[in-house]
Amino acid sequence: MTNLRAGGASDVGRVRRINEDRYLVGEGIFAVADGVGGHQAGEIASQTSVDTLAAHFIEHTARGLVNAVSDANQAVWRLAQQRADRRGMGTTISAVALVVDAPYEQLAVANVGDSRVYLLHQGDFQQLTQDDSLVEEMVREGRISPAEAQVHPQRSIITRALGMDPHLEVEVCQLLRPFTGDRYLLCSDGLTNELSDERIAATLRRLADPEEAAKELVRLARAEGGGDNITAVVVDVAGSGPANGDLSAAADSHPELLAEGTSMRTGPGAEGLGHETEVAGAVLTEAPPARPLPPTAGRISPPPDRRRFPTWRLAVFVVALIAVASTVVGAIRWYAKGSYYLGIDEAERVVIFRGRPGGLLWFEPEPLKNPRRLTSADLLEAEKTSLENGVPFPNLSAADRYANTLRGRVDLRATPRPTITSPSLEPTPLEVGPSITIAPSPPS
Ligand code: MN
Repeated sequence: MTNLRAGGASDVGRVRRINEDRYLVGEGIFAVADGVGGHQAGEIASQTSVDTLAAHFIEHTARGLVNAVSDANQAVWRLAQQRADRRGMGTTISAVALVVDAPYEQLAVANVGDSRVYLLHQGDFQQLTQDDSLVEEMVREGRISPAEAQVHPQRSIITRALGMDPHLEVEVCQLLRPFTGDRYLLCSDGLTNELSDERIAATLRRLADPEEAAKELVRLARAEGGGDNITAVVVDVAGSGPANGDLSAAADSHPELLAEGTSMRTGPGAEGLGHETEVAGAVLTEAPPARPLPPTAGRISPPPDRRRFPTWRLAVFVVALIAVASTVVGAIRWYAKGSYYLGIDEAERVVIFRGRPGGLLWFEPEPLKNPRRLTSADLLEAEKTSLENGVPFPNLSAADRYANTLRGRVDLRATPRPTITSPSLEPTPLEVGPSITIAPSPPS
């Protein structure tokens, strides 16, 4: 049981008119989204992405996080298709989630776009995500240096975003053990464009409270120019409790966690996780709403009943299962029924069967006909033995031809042998012609 404490802050900055950044401080899930698109579409995209992420992060595994981000992508994409003025809207997403991928609890990081996740671990500050941006690609290809990328005029062009492609591939880029004292920062590019890594790290080291640290980072970026919307979420690994999810034991070791009124807790019953999350914020818009996440007009996904497996997924699963099962049954049926063999039935008749000798699963062979009225009594012992085992054929006419051949042999055996017109029954001695001796030719 890992205890997380988190806080977030967001600001429109000093240049932009509206704030298209959104953030999520949820139950074991945290995210920053930076929307793009005119006519408020960027806001809709980022809000939809964090709402969907919060509602769809049901299975607390890395796979569950990937699914939730994929669902968020689909939700934004569908909204973008609905109205002409939303075409091309999209959003970045940087997400950190507490997951249980046996045997450990871990922190899973997923990223699409150029928002970032950083980790402050034992004083060491490092970026965990790679930007999906044009300049990042140029850096990777060695065409420009990281320093040049920082000031490149095209640095805000992103190569991947939620809502642009319904088949976007999402993956968890990092899985990390939650060490007590570790601090994660999720932020939009409005923060990293204004502040150096050193300055961000120094601020994170200086302020112990996650919400205070987030607010201070946003304030500093605004003071530096605030050329873009600025958003920061700080997540602290506050400690680890007993693995069995005993909340009272956790309260003994971390009394401060239960003393605060802001605790949002998932009990041991919920998905069997028993983790506890301290929150000091929620999805912020320009006018911060109260926790928990408010439903928004833009939400198109079903309401978040977190403990219920979503019915549409169950339906898709069942349909897929039925499709696979009927394909398998069809293949077996085809194999069982789509062939013939010649065998002997209970009445000792030679019969062409449809099916496999001895049957296959529940498909019994089906007797078709008794060609040429053959019976086992007509057969030689060897023929009888092979027919008792069944002689398979790929089609009916091949089986028929073989039956005809057998009939021919039987008839041949039954026909009296033509009388040998010889004066005596004694074997006629072979006439021997003059013998020719070929002598080896003498050596020349
Ligand atoms: Mn931005």
